[in-house]
Amino acid sequence: MADSAGTQSGQNGPFDVVILGGGSGGYACALRAAQLGMKVALVEKGELGGTCLHRGCIPTKALLHAAEVADSSRESEQFGVRTSFEGIDMPAVNAYKDGVVARLYKGLQGLVKSRKITFVEGMGRLVSPTAVEVDGRRYEGKHVVLATGSYAKSLPGLDIDGSQVITSDQALKLDRVPASVVVLGGGVIGCEFASVWKSFGAEVTIVEALPHLVPLEDEQSSKMLERAFRKRKIAFELGARFSGVEKTEGGVKVSLENGKTIEAELLLVAVGRGPTSQELGYEQVGVEMERGFVKVDEHCQTNVPTISAVGDLIPTLQLAHVGFGEGIMVAERLGGLEPAPIDYDGVPRVTYSEPEVASVGITESRAKEKYGDDGIETLTYDLAGNGKSQILKTAGFVKLVRQKDGPVVGIHMVGSRVGELVAEAQLIYGWEAYPDDVASLVHAHPTQTEAVGEAHLALAGKPLHAHG
Ligand SMILES: Cc1cc2nc3c(=O)[nH]c(=O)nc-3n(C[C@H](O)[C@H](O)[C@H](O)COP(=O)(O)OP(=O)(O)OC[C@H]3O[C@@H](n4cnc5c(N)ncnc54)[C@H](O)[C@@H]3O)c2cc1C
Repeated sequence: MADSAGTQSGQNGPFDVVILGGGSGGYACALRAAQLGMKVALVEKGELGGTCLHRGCIPTKALLHAAEVADSSRESEQFGVRTSFEGIDMPAVNAYKDGVVARLYKGLQGLVKSRKITFVEGMGRLVSPTAVEVDGRRYEGKHVVLATGSYAKSLPGLDIDGSQVITSDQALKLDRVPASVVVLGGGVIGCEFASVWKSFGAEVTIVEALPHLVPLEDEQSSKMLERAFRKRKIAFELGARFSGVEKTEGGVKVSLENGKTIEAELLLVAVGRGPTSQELGYEQVGVEMERGFVKVDEHCQTNVPTISAVGDLIPTLQLAHVGFGEGIMVAERLGGLEPAPIDYDGVPRVTYSEPEVASVGITESRAKEKYGDDGIETLTYDLAGNGKSQILKTAGFVKLVRQKDGPVVGIHMVGSRVGELVAEAQLIYGWEAYPDDVASLVHAHPTQTEAVGEAHLALAGKPLHAHG
């Protein structure tokens, strides 16, 4: 197809940069490159905005917000407010969610157009170190950026049928609340859907092969989430491996290697995402790959000097803001600036379940590996001592990991809304602050950010609302 209508703004090549894939990584690269005066072509086979906008971050967070509203109305009496919870109108929830996506999509299309980026609709393929072909038409650039993203993986022998056995793609389109669900995978995506469905009234069981939910987080955070999920009656099987699924009249029967079976209406497969890199010409052009991911250096350049790659396609954290950061860094490098490489430990991570789990920096166990068992100190500030958290009736903590006599190297938080605290945590980590540096900052009362301040006060040896 020729340059698209809709977001089209027509400049023909040759381009300074041709970007394959218009998701978070690709479009961020396009916007920044155009801002730096480069002539940019952005190739997208689906919808501008990619996974994050259409099938990921935004729609899931809209569902999680609807879930929070459901919980608030169901549990309002504990705040002295009488309401009656009548149920979930899934078509209306979807209309709300789709409305959010549609407004952001329109805004993004407008942005791309306003920056005079040539938006090419169609399936692209890398055909040389400097060219992408779309429907027989060649787009030449001084540089090419690969940003084709990822897809929901499954396990060997586990077929996604899209109705009883589904991935997040279909889960976001369900027109009903299932009576019961087995969620295979207790990572971020699995825990978020488990949280939504439980709030919507489904019976949920998570199956996780590793010993904990959100296994990449600090173990204390995982255990706190598990405690909270137990209280919410979200069931989970940890250290349990999937062995098979059978279709039944009512849905599915899932078998585990430990001999247990679980029956449910649906099986959500949330076992991770694999790079979209097959049959796109990458290997033929000589781009080095590893397990399907495109290999890059710390500036996201591949072994082919004119080709860079960003986002879920490369083996870094699969997060939208990582894609944004990498896309911007590549655009700046191609624009002759000297951007610093990304410190991936300093990237904030949030699981937006109820309660939320948020972190930045390294876990206690990684800190021990790095600095030795005696080379670190930790402090856990319980949200029980935080006024705003009490008002919200949430439980959790702010945990600090510091290098002994050195800076704070990890901040780990659990509780309702703690995702919003990660911005300060990220500054603390990024500025290599000592507990004393943060302790001297006055935090607004009563906010949850106070818990961050109080944790640093306590670690600096001068606790306020905590026992010393
Ligand atoms: C359910 C879910 C929830 C998530 N929640 C969050 C969250 O809360 N926060 C967060 O930070 N991250 C979240 N993520 C992850 C986030 O969505 C991804 O990290 C991000 O979208 C990656 O961006 P990307 O540009 O690398 O890839 P994508 O967004 O996947 O974009 C790649 C684009 O390339 C296009 N493309 C692929 N092949 C071709 C081709 N041959 N020709 C033309 N176009 C092509 C695709 O159509 C797609 O639009 C979530 C993901 C999922 C699935």
